[in-house]
Amino acid sequence: MTWVEGAAGSLFDVDNLPYAVFSRSGEGARVGVRIGDQVLDLAPVAAAPGGDLEGGPDLAAAWGQPLLDPFLRLGRPTWAAARAWITSILTDAAHRRHVEPHLVPVDQVRLHPAFTVGDYVDFYASLDHATNVGRMFRPDAEPLLPNWRHLPVGYHGRAGTVVPSGTAVIRPCGQRKAPSDAGPTFGPSTRLDIEAELGFVVGTGTTLGDRVGTGGFADHVFGVVGLNDWSARDIQAWEYVPLGPFLGKSFATSISHWVTPLEALAAAWTELPGQDPEPLDYLAVEGPAGLDIEVEVRLNEHVVARPPYSSMYWSPHQMLAHLTVNGASLRTGDLWGSGTISGPEKDQRGSLLELSWGGTEPFPVGSEERTFLEDGDEVVLRYTAPGALGGRIALGEVAGRVLPAR
Ligand code: MN
Repeated sequence: MTWVEGAAGSLFDVDNLPYAVFSRSGEGARVGVRIGDQVLDLAPVAAAPGGDLEGGPDLAAAWGQPLLDPFLRLGRPTWAAARAWITSILTDAAHRRHVEPHLVPVDQVRLHPAFTVGDYVDFYASLDHATNVGRMFRPDAEPLLPNWRHLPVGYHGRAGTVVPSGTAVIRPCGQRKAPSDAGPTFGPSTRLDIEAELGFVVGTGTTLGDRVGTGGFADHVFGVVGLNDWSARDIQAWEYVPLGPFLGKSFATSISHWVTPLEALAAAWTELPGQDPEPLDYLAVEGPAGLDIEVEVRLNEHVVARPPYSSMYWSPHQMLAHLTVNGASLRTGDLWGSGTISGPEKDQRGSLLELSWGGTEPFPVGSEERTFLEDGDEVVLRYTAPGALGGRIALGEVAGRVLPAR
């Protein structure tokens, strides 16, 4: 049990330990780990005599940097050893005297982007989401296209517009044309939306030409972030055929400051809901490959949906195997989104497009109603999962407010 006051039994007990990059006024940004309501400044603790991993890489140097990148490059054995060391200094009372001075209340720090985003890919792994969108965008056809159950469908997004939680989102302008319109028009999106997703962060890269099998997931993926794939549905619906999402998505993607390491999700793995037909061999997974993560979508502080990640059809192992099956290399900081998380129930839909059924059914938000986002609206995504200590852990939260178009 941890000696950090208030941490035991909280959402940030020693079975969580997410990382972020933080600073205090007048000091440089560096890596910290959260415990309870505190951030542990890792570099000075690791630099103290006897503080670092004996014979291992220089963690104090990696954690003293203003980005997680150097730590992400170190790989799974070092990530595991670092976590074991952090756990020991936060649970063994003998360390309290020299560790406690390096705890900073989380409300006294400024958080920074945690890592350099390499390539960004977004998948489409929820059966319920893909079915709902298919029904709305292609009402006269089969909701699922013929490839959907054979491969995790995805597209390459814009890494340069991945922004940290709290960044305002400017309503995008663009070209749109409703089926009933005579021709396209230009202007601010009138169907601005969110997509509640989970993001996966690549730690160690690969060589061009190599592929990563589903079993290589934990060797290459460091952890997860909360992710909101802001989407302009009117722009998207007019532009997406035949090459997929473009300007309807590329104006902003928000991710959490906190990166939850895979080890923290050890108790969250669960069986996939079931795949039919059986995917090709390179997509085969062994053991529980789904994640029991509960998501909460808050719009102006009202919970409007609770999507269950456990309902996702494709596993993250399969997304990684598919992403690299053609030999495309991975780099440290590559990021992929799971796709909108939607469950089978109405109140489990992770986008306003689905919650308002294409804008035809306004849904309640407190005493108001919404179909799509209005200027000034704030969206917060929260995530929790079962922790290894029997309680729950909180993953990184993602917030963003809509500003008027420019
Ligand atoms: Mn998406």
